[in-house]
Amino acid sequence: SQPITVGQLAKLMHRNSSEIIKFLFMLGNMSTINTTMSDDDVELVCAQFGVECHKEVVIEEDDIEDQLKNIEEDESKLQPRPPVVTIMGHVDHGKTTLLDTIRKTNVIEDEFGGITQHIGAYQVSLHGRKVTFLDTPGHEAFTAMRARGAQVTDIVIIVVAADDGVMPQTKEAVDHAKAAGVPIVVAVNKIDKPGANPDRVMNEMAELGIMPEEWGGDTIFQRISAKTGEGVNDLLETMLLVADMQELKANPDALASGTVIEAKLDKGRGPVATLLVQRGTLHTGDSVVVGTSYGRIRRMTNDKHKEVKKATPSMPVEIIGLSEVPRAGDVFMTYTDYKKAQTIASQRLEKQILKERNASSAMSLEDLARKI
Ligand code: GDP
Ligand code: MG
Repeated sequence: SQPITVGQLAKLMHRNSSEIIKFLFMLGNMSTINTTMSDDDVELVCAQFGVECHKEVVIEEDDIEDQLKNIEEDESKLQPRPPVVTIMGHVDHGKTTLLDTIRKTNVIEDEFGGITQHIGAYQVSLHGRKVTFLDTPGHEAFTAMRARGAQVTDIVIIVVAADDGVMPQTKEAVDHAKAAGVPIVVAVNKIDKPGANPDRVMNEMAELGIMPEEWGGDTIFQRISAKTGEGVNDLLETMLLVADMQELKANPDALASGTVIEAKLDKGRGPVATLLVQRGTLHTGDSVVVGTSYGRIRRMTNDKHKEVKKATPSMPVEIIGLSEVPRAGDVFMTYTDYKKAQTIASQRLEKQILKERNASSAMSLEDLARKI
């Protein structure tokens, strides 16, 4: 594109040149009305004054999610990976109990003790095969992830208490699974309770369009008691069959990328993030960018809080070393070069700050150009 002077740009933007000169001065650039501007400066000025720049004058837009979508997978490099399963359902219908039974640990007792040791994701071994379970702290987190286009789960298990039936959050779970386009397995829970009515659950789910296989539909309903463990093995076997039909694969040799499952600021350790690796292999020491946060992974632990040096596809890991706390649902990407990671993160931060400051008046530079 043709170089533009400060004076010309000011005229196009219906601004006083002095405003632009002042802004450039704050960025450390001395200029006059006749100074020709670099494309980068034009972009920054446009952002500062709420004007959308046309592509030609914008520095290359780096959009990690787009980059990921554009990755052409070399089929020969794809390897089977463990399924990622999310357990959803109405409050008190037994999600935690089910996860607990699956893991055979005592998360619930910890909760009673007041030390909520929440783990966002973990892997278990079933018949010698690994399965990753996501323990979504709430449907909000899942909604936030989806809003950002993050596709993390391969299968959704919807838990419905047989003594309570379909409730509002059951419907939400169905909507989430449908929107994500992933298969559903229904766990009809609490069948040990006297008031249990599994048929009612099937009827109500069928009304939502989730038709049981035994009625000619394609969704498997498994009767379980998360408390006694009855039916839980069958549920897991069903789940593995559903996973097999998907032929889930990923390239483990690529630079790692994936999604933030949850993140928080720890007083002693700084930003801590649970990442789900979805492609490639993540190593300690890797340089990653997540949103506007970046850093070199200082330490990585698995779901059993054991230090690990690498994480392969579908593995959840907790990492430290990021510059700030990322958001759940943000995509992370690894770079071979720390400097590059740093540059990308800081460019994004700069853009974000400018965008927020100028959310208002938007005028495209194309429109402006026509007026010359
Ligand atoms: P969540 O809110 O979906 O995570 O539900 P919880 O797992 O916390 O369970 C809520 C309550 O239901 C707890 O008191 C559990 O002990 C109880 N519960 C869960 N599953 C079963 C079950 O299969 N049978 C019976 N009788 N109680 C259950
Ligand atoms: Mg729970």
